[in-house]
Amino acid sequence: MILIRKLLFIITIPVAVFFIQEWLTIADDNWQLDDSAELSDAEEIELGKSVNEYIRHQFYLCNDPELNKELNGITQRLTAVSDRKTLPFACDIIQSYSINAFSAPGGHIYVTEGLLKFAETEDEIAGIIGHEVAHASLRHVSKLYREFIEIISQREKGTDSVATLLLFNCHLEEFEQEADTAGVLYAQKAGFSPDGLPDFLERHLNLLIQNRAFGFLRFDFYTATFTRINHLREYISSLAIKE
Ligand SMILES: [Zn+2]
Repeated sequence: MILIRKLLFIITIPVAVFFIQEWLTIADDNWQLDDSAELSDAEEIELGKSVNEYIRHQFYLCNDPELNKELNGITQRLTAVSDRKTLPFACDIIQSYSINAFSAPGGHIYVTEGLLKFAETEDEIAGIIGHEVAHASLRHVSKLYREFIEIISQREKGTDSVATLLLFNCHLEEFEQEADTAGVLYAQKAGFSPDGLPDFLERHLNLLIQNRAFGFLRFDFYTATFTRINHLREYISSLAIKE
């Protein structure tokens, strides 16, 4: 369960658990990669199309034209200042009460209606999307894909994959921090407040605590989010000093 949770580019879990499991299936069926290769842009975009088809098959998307236009406007402002402007970024809204966002291959980002309702400002939404744009922009999807392949091959060989999993989790921690700082920079460059992401995470964490949503198994999520918020606050202070 810990592995599944940490596999995800997300704030909370439920939607993407299914997504990742299926993503692995899709990826296994359609792609043969050299162990050392990252996905090329074209490969990642193709994989993203398959994932997007799956998402559209599994979930109802919100078709409100105004809301979609507003959200894609924010996404385009962020991608215009990102490190990978050539990717065809797009953002869809999944009909779900959960508070959730994640990146799929090829620049496709999904946020839930629950997340949009919970967000209090455009800056908070930009903070979340900026984080997801950063995952795609910094090729974390390609890098993670390679890690997935490694883990699968270890399992197939029947070897103990604990060491691989630990290594994988270290990578994920790096990715989260890297996506957080890059996303905040994108938000700032695009004219949003860099505080949007930590503000959102803090309010979300408080909501989970108030609702006593943290049992024993989620304690690591609590501490990881708390650390993320502190790191983001420190990083934003350093940006302010530089200015
Ligand atoms: Zn992330």
